[in-house]
Amino acid sequence: MLIDSHAHLDDPRFDSDRDAALQRAWDAGIRMILTIGNGSGPDQMGCGIPIAAGHDWIYTSVGVHPHDAGKVEERHYAQMKESSKYEKVVAIGETGLDYFYDNSPRDVQREVFRRQLALAKELDMPVIIHTRDADIDTEEILKQAAPIRGVIHCFTSGDKLAQRALELGFFISFSGIVTFPNAKALSEIARRVPADRILLETDCPYLAPVPHRGKRNEPSFVADTARFVATLRGIALDELAEQTAANFHRLFGVKTS
Ligand SMILES: [Zn+2]
Ligand SMILES: [Zn+2]
Repeated sequence: MLIDSHAHLDDPRFDSDRDAALQRAWDAGIRMILTIGNGSGPDQMGCGIPIAAGHDWIYTSVGVHPHDAGKVEERHYAQMKESSKYEKVVAIGETGLDYFYDNSPRDVQREVFRRQLALAKELDMPVIIHTRDADIDTEEILKQAAPIRGVIHCFTSGDKLAQRALELGFFISFSGIVTFPNAKALSEIARRVPADRILLETDCPYLAPVPHRGKRNEPSFVADTARFVATLRGIALDELAEQTAANFHRLFGVKTS
């Protein structure tokens, strides 16, 4: 049983074939999907709720992506808290820092990140962290927020942040980027992450794994990343599927029947 621990099913690129994409995922052995509640900004943080409501194997989150941090108003934190009460909302996020695109001012990104971590703690929910070119500040802010549980999603950072995140009790999730031939340092991290801390995701519609690279990504392609990572770690696909499913259940508190 495979799980896509991070997808953006609300994305308009799924508007023409969302149901067909979900069917392909099911046919490929995907038995759970976490669709991220970011939308195109804080006003759409509930975007995953109708999708999760329509499918018993889909869960969702609520949060504000660092790209949209500059659009946050105080009322959005109240909205996040309110939306988090829905039973299929299992996490806060994705939230974090993106100093590669710098779509929002960095001080605002840090503030909005800290506020979401505080809310996750208050609600006793896990957090989904996005971090790009911001290893030092991400580590610092997570340390200040500890103890807190969550996942560094679509991990592309360095070895040091991987170590620190593991020490803080975080899970590390790998996307299709790990399958890219130039991602040698990343695949070395994916080879060594402890079996009880690894997760897999597509981050679709972005970042399709080899052999679909360049196409729109979709949840069924998590199987390709899983095959690649299982080979990397020298274990059977079934064993990796079992480990990552157990980790998902432990972090997000949901189980497949
Ligand atoms: Zn992200
Ligand atoms: Zn994402």
